Amino acid sequence: MAAAGRQADEVLAKAVAGKDYICVVEGGIPTVPGHGMIGGREMLAIAKEVCGNATAVVAIGSCAVDGGVPAAKPNPSRILGVGEALGMKVVNLPCCPVNPEWLVGTVVYVLTMGKLPELDGKGRPLMFYGRTIHDNCPRRTHFDGGRFVGQFGSKEEAAGYCLYKMGCKGPEAWSECPKTRWNSKESWCIEIGSPCLGCSENNWTDHFAPFYGKLADVALPYGDVTADKIGIGLAVATGAAIAGHAVLKATRGKGEDGKK
Ligand code: SF4
Repeated sequence: MAAAGRQADEVLAKAVAGKDYICVVEGGIPTVPGHGMIGGREMLAIAKEVCGNATAVVAIGSCAVDGGVPAAKPNPSRILGVGEALGMKVVNLPCCPVNPEWLVGTVVYVLTMGKLPELDGKGRPLMFYGRTIHDNCPRRTHFDGGRFVGQFGSKEEAAGYCLYKMGCKGPEAWSECPKTRWNSKESWCIEIGSPCLGCSENNWTDHFAPFYGKLADVALPYGDVTADKIGIGLAVATGAAIAGHAVLKATRGKGEDGKK
């Protein structure tokens, strides 16, 4: 809100009394007594009061969804997301930070349709979190073709190959990042060369660490093939092709009697 201090408290109290508002929450909620104080009150108590009266509650950013980075081990304040801390249904808009277009789209949907958008099992709107990053990734043809970056600074990185072996979590991260993009559609993580860290998923900091560690082998969409197998397969095939080419070249260079 634009106001601060006493004025902010008054504006908030007036909105809560009106009981016709959408509450958008940013940040996780400490649940250890005495932790997370605002104006002498615990965030948990304030959140119960404000969210409890709202028409809809929207948790924006990974911290509000499940505690995010501050909830990583050892989490001394036992920070939780809004839904878990308050034991209520909320619309979750994860990612670190949330994409502003998803927030605006969700609020406009609630205002115009008079109901929540369709959500997945983690409370995320399907219209923004219905497919994996891997599904829409512009590097996907390189993944399917077994062309991977194996080292930063390599020619494979310069060629824009798939970042799976550099720890990309895109196959397990559900969001529309590749389509919505960020900063007025300027770019997004994978486009600037960073593996996806999976910040759309619950407990992503602990769950996906180490961030540059490769995911367990990921299956390709056809047959009994995985990213690692296809990488090995292509390496063998390439080796065989090179060997075959060398043999052919050597043979062509010789006469019928085997002499040059
Ligand atoms: Fe894109 Fe990552 Fe999937 Fe590779 S593994 S195609 S970089 S999402």
